[in-house]
Amino acid sequence: MKEILERLGIKEINSGAYCGEWLDTKGKIIEVFSPIDDSLLAKVKSASAEDFNTIMHKSKEAFKTWRMIPAPQRGEIVRQIGLELRKFKGDLGKLVTIEMGKIFTEGLGEVQEMIDMADFAVGLSRQLYGATMPSERPLHRMYEQWHPLGVIGIISAFNFPVAVWAWNAFIAGVCGDTMVWKPSSFTPLTAIAVTNIVHKVVERNNIPKAIFNLVIGPGSDIGEKLINDKDILLISATGSCQMGKRVHQAIAKRYGRAILELGGNNAIIVMEDANLELALKAVLFGAVGTAGQRCTTTRRVILHEKIFNAFAKKLKSAYSTIPIGDPLDKNILMGPLVDQSSVIEYQNALEKIKIQGGEIFYGGKVLNENVPGKLYVQPTIVIARNDMPIVQDETFAPILYLIKMKDINEAIALHNDVPQGLSSSIFTNNLQYAEQFLSHKGSDCGIANVNIGTSGAEIGGAFGGEKETGGGREAGSDSWKAYMRRQTNTINWGKEMPLAQGVEFDVE
Ligand code: NAD
Repeated sequence: MKEILERLGIKEINSGAYCGEWLDTKGKIIEVFSPIDDSLLAKVKSASAEDFNTIMHKSKEAFKTWRMIPAPQRGEIVRQIGLELRKFKGDLGKLVTIEMGKIFTEGLGEVQEMIDMADFAVGLSRQLYGATMPSERPLHRMYEQWHPLGVIGIISAFNFPVAVWAWNAFIAGVCGDTMVWKPSSFTPLTAIAVTNIVHKVVERNNIPKAIFNLVIGPGSDIGEKLINDKDILLISATGSCQMGKRVHQAIAKRYGRAILELGGNNAIIVMEDANLELALKAVLFGAVGTAGQRCTTTRRVILHEKIFNAFAKKLKSAYSTIPIGDPLDKNILMGPLVDQSSVIEYQNALEKIKIQGGEIFYGGKVLNENVPGKLYVQPTIVIARNDMPIVQDETFAPILYLIKMKDINEAIALHNDVPQGLSSSIFTNNLQYAEQFLSHKGSDCGIANVNIGTSGAEIGGAFGGEKETGGGREAGSDSWKAYMRRQTNTINWGKEMPLAQGVEFDVE
């Protein structure tokens, strides 16, 4: 453990501000504990207001040069970062596990996602295409081009402490932006480790130093500075709906741009004809994976009445075999929650479930035995109704609601009847059910799958959701457009000055 931290450049006390160099920060000390066993991993001296101003100044200066470096050369920098990440995949994956508690294979998967994003961004750096449109005026040419935007802010949540940064940073980087990353205060060490990796690449290239910057501190302090800074033209914020609302208000006030990646309340519909074995696997990974702490975690299973009892029984028996414990142990499938307040939230949700008429079908307990710490809970199955207030909320813990329905129309109505709209799926072999689910009158989510669960998205597609999930899109497809400034250009290469729409304005 000590060696891993050393290899990743984590010291006993670390600076919480980077802008091409680590600053001697003046803010409060953050102690970082592992949720696995509550051991102290390291300390971070968070950034002060003055540190933040230094970062902003250097970011803005760096942008002036970075934007003029051709995009494929910016891609080359991201390619080198991807190569460095490959070297540190094992160590970084382990640090993700130690710092936030997901099982090691998921920690490794998260670093792989960063590497995949780097590869994607390298290709993208030669494909920032603008369209050409036929002008309605003779001897005129009309086209659009995409320019770098400026300094952007990246706010990330604890549950994907490094991948979310890569989704944003590699795309923004090839687009020519410089950036300031504010990670969750639960996971500053992985952010420092990633920044150390980036620093190596920045140092050996002749580029401005303050491109991939980092600021560590509480959301209520440093986070507020970030979202209220008029020089940050885009904020990409990942976290709870409550945080998103605050961020959105602050940005709207100054006419900024926001990519919001907020909470989900994701459901799997299982129809009467579904392959139940497949559905079971997807529900298990979706609901129990990452201890129910993914934005795409399966929170509701909407089951056809004909298979409700059989599926619930199978699920209960599978839940009883889930090994819970130290997430570094390769036989373990579920690790701890991130901190004590999450355990309390889990317990509070169970109380509400009982009051609101839900039936706890499996689980519901905090574990005290055979686990290395205090943050381990049983994955829990609840028989519920969709309109129970607790079901309408995202509880960030492994609580799964089973909801009964009688046909596809009712299933889709129940499915969409929540405030969030991130990820969704249907299990069926019936083409009509599947197509209805994917149609305009089907799922209202940003992600809709058939015979695949709600979690574990690939980077190639645009990722994000609707309604209170915030409407943002990140990662693949054409998400890059949000990180650039679109400019429409019309050029007159003739000798006349015709006006659009046939308007005449000639002086005799
Ligand atoms: P959180 O909302 O508590 O914190 C997220 C980030 O926002 C942290 O870095 C925090 O410091 C910062 N923050 C909080 N208040 C702020 C403010 N006023 N100004 C600026 N920044 C502020 O979320 P969390 O507990 O870290 O993560 C879990 C939540 O994130 C869940 O709701 C989950 O669904 C969501 N999430 C969504 C996605 C997605 O892509 N849709 C991905 C991962 C997590």
